[in-house]
Amino acid sequence: MSKLRFKVVEEAFDRKAIPVETPKERPTEYYGKYVFNRQKMFEYLPKKTYDALVDAIDNKKTLSREVADSVAAGMKQWAIDNGARHYTHWFHPLTDGTAEKHDAFVEHDGKGGMVEEFTGKLLVQQEPDASSFPNGGIRNTFEARGYSAWDISSPAFILDKTLCIPTIFIAYTGESLDYKTPLLRALNSVDKAATAVARYFDPEVKHVNSFLGWEQEYFLVDEALYSARPDLVMTGRTLMGHESAKNQQLEDHYFGAIPSRVESFMLDLEIECHKLGIPAKTRHNEVAPNQFELAPIFEETNLANDHNLLLMSLIAEVARRHNFRVLLHEKPFAGINGSGKHNNWSLGTDKGVLLYAPGKTPKDNLQFITFVANTMAAVHRHNGLLKASIMSATNAHRLGANEAPPAIISIFLGSQLSEIFDKLEKSDSDDLIELAGKKGLKINVDQIPEIMVDNTDRNRTSPFAFTGNRFEFRAVGSSANCASAMIALNAAIAEQLMDFKTKVDARIAAGEGLDHALLAEVKEILRESKAIHFDGNGYSDEWKEEAGRRGLDCETSAPKIFDAYLSPSSIEMFSKTGVFTKLELEARNEVKWEMYTKKLQIEARVLGDLAINHVIPVAIRYQSVLTDNVFKLKTLFPNEKGDKLAAMDLDTIERISTHMATIMEEVKKMVNARKAANKIDDEREKAIAYHDNVLPCMDVIRYHIDKLELMVDDEMWPLPKYRELLFIR
Ligand code: ADP
Ligand code: MG
Repeated sequence: MSKLRFKVVEEAFDRKAIPVETPKERPTEYYGKYVFNRQKMFEYLPKKTYDALVDAIDNKKTLSREVADSVAAGMKQWAIDNGARHYTHWFHPLTDGTAEKHDAFVEHDGKGGMVEEFTGKLLVQQEPDASSFPNGGIRNTFEARGYSAWDISSPAFILDKTLCIPTIFIAYTGESLDYKTPLLRALNSVDKAATAVARYFDPEVKHVNSFLGWEQEYFLVDEALYSARPDLVMTGRTLMGHESAKNQQLEDHYFGAIPSRVESFMLDLEIECHKLGIPAKTRHNEVAPNQFELAPIFEETNLANDHNLLLMSLIAEVARRHNFRVLLHEKPFAGINGSGKHNNWSLGTDKGVLLYAPGKTPKDNLQFITFVANTMAAVHRHNGLLKASIMSATNAHRLGANEAPPAIISIFLGSQLSEIFDKLEKSDSDDLIELAGKKGLKINVDQIPEIMVDNTDRNRTSPFAFTGNRFEFRAVGSSANCASAMIALNAAIAEQLMDFKTKVDARIAAGEGLDHALLAEVKEILRESKAIHFDGNGYSDEWKEEAGRRGLDCETSAPKIFDAYLSPSSIEMFSKTGVFTKLELEARNEVKWEMYTKKLQIEARVLGDLAINHVIPVAIRYQSVLTDNVFKLKTLFPNEKGDKLAAMDLDTIERISTHMATIMEEVKKMVNARKAANKIDDEREKAIAYHDNVLPCMDVIRYHIDKLELMVDDEMWPLPKYRELLFIR
């Protein structure tokens, strides 16, 4: 009997909700308690320093050394008053997580003792060893210096008694080695480009902000069950496991009552989030059993992304307090929904106008339509790149499957906007002017009525959907750093808006009126980018064919999808917007291919081990029980009767042998495919070899193991089954 499996099932089954101590104060009082926000700055910094810092943050200026020293002193005092003993630069290398290296506040006092010190120099800049992080060859170990530098636009915070300072991470030679640097560059670029266009409508606009509201989906699995699944521990997903008889078909989990253990966990997490200034707002069950979601109120994109990264470490920590393990993998279980992280994205001016929200006046609506049309154009131009921006070894399992966005980027607009755009595109400009005359207005406002965009005809199958006052980029994976998608999207929009402005300005210079010039260009881009608009069923096979005919990127192999980063149009766009140099793009792609290979390599090793050392021995043991039984039956009942009674066992014995033989054969094939792939030097070719030759073996091995799971005595099966992983909570 499989002792471990039954022990952990029992352990998981007996668990009770862990009570959470809720703070005595209201959330409004402890919100941001561990964040060095403006209120704390005001309290802890001299007035002059406070003014200089706020001015630098608001107007994107650099801090002088003097101010930095004064900020550091105040920040240190605040941190110490709140129990912190260490500080760290907190940055986002090209791995899945965040990086930190803690230093204590202590320094020698010169008299044999210690003082607690923290200088402006330590606040502003550090030099972590860059060669130990993925860098795609930019940093060789012999010139390993990298810099981390304070991002003053994201406030410092205290986590686990450590003052964390959000920083960018760059090489000694200036290339970015992280996600934050290019994100800040992309946001800067979209700010400039969008501000220039927004000024057509309101000359007072000074800045345009990019906003992000992420929806984090995740699974919870009891800690004991998790520990008995080496595949979950090592790879974050189950590499085998037959579907449970009941999974999500009754649709009884989504928005259902939250189980008590989970509710405790959620409350605990929410309190932690609020103390750290993460505006967590929504929590609910998701579609699959044991799948849940947390969504905050949207924020400026850089801050929202820092908060998501912080949340991803926080959620793991809080889950453990409740004897859960959180799975952020995009597809931890086959046959049920995977997890995404919808990126709700929009642009808004410093005067509080959301540029994707339809307005009340014709002028507002012309602005709205201008921004939506430009977004369509950018997404159309860079659809392959946007797909690359969300692609990873783990998200590849989710995309294209029947419950997730397809591996083709298209835009959903909804019936109302589609209709307006159709009309606009078809009308010719003479019409517009004539009609406009009749109404006594400068443009044909009939075609841009007061737009009340329906939130109702939502299309769940679209990877990029308009949802009323924003776009929802749904293809982003649950374990991803949102920055990847946000860099590509914001930079692409920036480029498009720059081009748009050039064209509109040319028309104006040629004597056209502003509104006419804007409308004419909007119509032009609507015509050009029509192919990206698709409101139908993104899961259907017809769409795949149709998308191909429309010239959209239909590549499904992850390592080849990454190629889009190096296409001439991507290189040009990233260089125009100042987000990435060609060298940076090349280095990053090396990292992407390398990561892809490594993830598959780990999975393949774990699967081989489980197949040979866990599954096959158990199948043999069960087979030998059956063989024993056959002998006994035949001894008890000789001749025909014995043959008849043993027939069923004999059949099972044979089938077990067939499955085992195929598993052995495929494992051998997989190991050989790995060996061959590992000899390839070129990272791209290696990743392709893993995709083409290793991945298919894994599917076959899994298929046969899952068949064995159905045949072998339940008491012998060593790994917790899907029904246990998904329904015990
Ligand atoms: P859904 O119904 O799509 O699951 P949720 O309420 O779970 O929506 O999450 C929607 C997310 O979108 C929230 O984070 C919300 O703050 C965010 N959001 C709302 N309006 C905007 C906007 N204009 N720009 C960016 N994000 C937004
Ligand atoms: Mg949601």
